[in-house]
Amino acid sequence: MSNRQAGQSRVNDVISYLEMCVREGESSLQRGMNFRLRPDHSVLLMSIQANSPYADRLEDDGATLIYEGHDVPKSDEYPIPKSVDQPMHLPSGKLSQNGKFYEAAQATAELQAPPERVRVYEKLKKGIWSYNGVFHLVDSWVEPDDCRRVFKFKLVAVEGDEDLAVPVRRGQPHRRIIPTAVKVEVWNRDKGKCVQCGSTDELHFDHVLPYAKGGTSLTAENVQLLCARHNLKKRDRIQ
Ligand SMILES: [Zn+2]
Repeated sequence: MSNRQAGQSRVNDVISYLEMCVREGESSLQRGMNFRLRPDHSVLLMSIQANSPYADRLEDDGATLIYEGHDVPKSDEYPIPKSVDQPMHLPSGKLSQNGKFYEAAQATAELQAPPERVRVYEKLKKGIWSYNGVFHLVDSWVEPDDCRRVFKFKLVAVEGDEDLAVPVRRGQPHRRIIPTAVKVEVWNRDKGKCVQCGSTDELHFDHVLPYAKGGTSLTAENVQLLCARHNLKKRDRIQ
């Protein structure tokens, strides 16, 4: 039985939309922002390709994700969601997803609460997602964008905080994620297959030269697609 079948999520796994839902115990994930999907974590879905509706971006060589809040749903009242401020509250007066993430991040920034643990998944193309691992939500703010206001959330990619059963810890070491453009380039170059055996199952973005040995995440030359079997083989060889 592979790690994947045992339900473990490893950073940089390539998964289908369905598998992502299964991992999160949901029949579907319709929203990009899911505050406290479970008591021990939240879920954010990102898509930073050119046609993406939101301006998410990476900073600090990929260790920091700046995630943009979400617009009001399109309706008769708001036919052009991008022309109105992103909402803090729902019409009912309750906090929106923006509001929930905003308040949690503020509590952390003011050192009143440990950071919210957030699992981040990224859409590479239709039906194909990549697991970007666990992030800590550490700050939030509102900023002008043309003639309206949008929410921004700062999340840091952390190492060694994957076990949701363990209470979240501050000050975990940071890690760097592979930028979307690199992943898409590698996916296309390797044609969605393991470069060793051609398998299309249980794929993983692998660093040719491991990050810990000075390999970079920032160029496609140092990233390749490997299946779970060949990824494991390679790790055994390196260790
Ligand atoms: Zn393989």
